[in-house]
Amino acid sequence: MNSQKFETKAIRTQLQRSQYLEHSVPLYLTSSFVFEDAEDMRASFAEEKDRNIYSRYANPNSDEFIEKVCQMEDAEAGFAFASGMAAVFSTLAALLDSGDHVLSARNIFGSTHSLFTNFFPKWNISHTYFKIDALDTIEQLITPKTKIIYAESPTNPGVDILDLEALGEIAKKHNLILVIDNCFASPYLQQPIKFGADLVIHSGTKLIDGQGRVLAGITVGSNELIDKIYRFSRITGPSLSPFNAWLLSKSLETLAVRVDRHCENALKLAEFLEGHKKVNWVKYPFLKSHPQYEIAKKQMKAGGCVVAFEVKGGVKGGQDFFDFIKLLSLSANLGDSRSIVTHPASTTHSKLSVEEREETGITDGMVRVSVGLEHIDDIIGDIEQALG
Ligand SMILES: *Cc1c(COP(=O)(O)O)cnc(C)c1O
Repeated sequence: MNSQKFETKAIRTQLQRSQYLEHSVPLYLTSSFVFEDAEDMRASFAEEKDRNIYSRYANPNSDEFIEKVCQMEDAEAGFAFASGMAAVFSTLAALLDSGDHVLSARNIFGSTHSLFTNFFPKWNISHTYFKIDALDTIEQLITPKTKIIYAESPTNPGVDILDLEALGEIAKKHNLILVIDNCFASPYLQQPIKFGADLVIHSGTKLIDGQGRVLAGITVGSNELIDKIYRFSRITGPSLSPFNAWLLSKSLETLAVRVDRHCENALKLAEFLEGHKKVNWVKYPFLKSHPQYEIAKKQMKAGGCVVAFEVKGGVKGGQDFFDFIKLLSLSANLGDSRSIVTHPASTTHSKLSVEEREETGITDGMVRVSVGLEHIDDIIGDIEQALG
């Protein structure tokens, strides 16, 4: 692995330079690539050559985006997808067979939960959820059919923290594949492979793009596992478009400076909310009051861009808050330069039953703030006036 620092790799990793000697990488907006002759064509399809054939398989812009994320996550290989969910689905579907079982944290992204609950059963793939605050009980849930341990940290939307090192040890001991959705941390704040993860998934839509423009996903890990995911994906077709890959590769150049500011603003907002009389509780990984503060400090560089809190007054209190917001966007995305407020109970997690929401700590008055890059005084000012 290259010994340059994170920021340098993010800016200087460049796979292509054409005869025009452009400084910034060009966009390879092409669906296919040409062969020199009959022998080149045969050898390319026989995989005797490592070269581009068709952009569903690989493209120079996707390759560069993948290479950067691999450098950042200390991974051998990767595959880039059209969305975060394409990455989650394709990664799991490529590795699981009928009869296999997944052991997953209960607190996961809503669509991933739907995948486990509503779709995988039709291919005879089962799952069991474990409680994130009871990692010592996980081993009892492993069966001879278990193949994958799946988790996110920090979780969406409750910003709970899972001990990645503990999960890595359990996975290793039982010879299971540990898959971590690292979307909330971004490759800058946390590198799960260091703690024993086999595969790391990102929704590139969030902090990696960081400007609310594109949907994307990526999975990185060992050559062996990524090869299986690649073979499945080049046939099923969830590949990232070259244009989006080109945008994302540029976005990665500013990831470190952006995420530093996101985290600085988020911590200031969390501290402000902690003392506010209209707020029941606040959760942010780098607040001392967070139940897993010590673990967060151990595995993350900073706390991330998301702050969760509960407005007093139940549903009515929550609705009033959202109606009074002026500057911040009411939207379902996160990791954007624009601050966003979301009401998980009525939006991203509305498909969960009331009991399921309670189990994952999503209360009616819970607000998720994705803290953006506006001046912190303006962010706090808007939230303060909306709280009344
Ligand atoms: C948004 C998100 C996803 C899905 O990503 P898309 O790009 O929206 O498909 C998966 N996991 C987490 C934690 C997310 O926040």
